[in-house]
Amino acid sequence: MADREYQRKWREKNREKLRKYHREYYGKHKDKYRESRQRATRKYRANLPLEKKQEMCRRYHLNWRTKHPNRYEAQKVNLQEYNRKIKYDVLTYYGGGKCACVKCGESRLACLSIDHIDGGGRAHNRAINRWGGTFYRWLQTEGYPIGYQTLCMNCQWVKKYERNENNRGEAPSPGRYNRH
Ligand SMILES: [Zn+2]
Repeated sequence: MADREYQRKWREKNREKLRKYHREYYGKHKDKYRESRQRATRKYRANLPLEKKQEMCRRYHLNWRTKHPNRYEAQKVNLQEYNRKIKYDVLTYYGGGKCACVKCGESRLACLSIDHIDGGGRAHNRAINRWGGTFYRWLQTEGYPIGYQTLCMNCQWVKKYERNENNRGEAPSPGRYNRH
């Protein structure tokens, strides 16, 4: 006990000296330290379950956000503008050169969306796992595949309604709303 007490006192007395010694030692062996730290981190990350990784990412971004509120806001605005531009371009392409519903001409951006002409939109979106904004980006990177058109929500509902009506009686007429 006495020994420990003595050591503690010695450390306290020579604190600055110790600190200097450690700093110098670290400076000399910096690369070795860094390497072993990186190795340990890599190993730790490799064995981490996915949820834990996602949790770490979330925490990192949250931290970044609170540290750089202005940059976060700017980024958000940029991203919104970027996504709006993509949406506008995609809707214009599938609106036949006009950012408007191909049925009724509705042109308010908030009402417009992409319609799968032959139906099955949900299943397809699920298959490629693209929804909303990422779906617009997908259409663009795929080079605007055929089979889609720009419709407003009203016309989407009408189409859905008429398809259901048809399903009750005879088979739906697929050509009815086709633009291509
Ligand atoms: Zn419409």
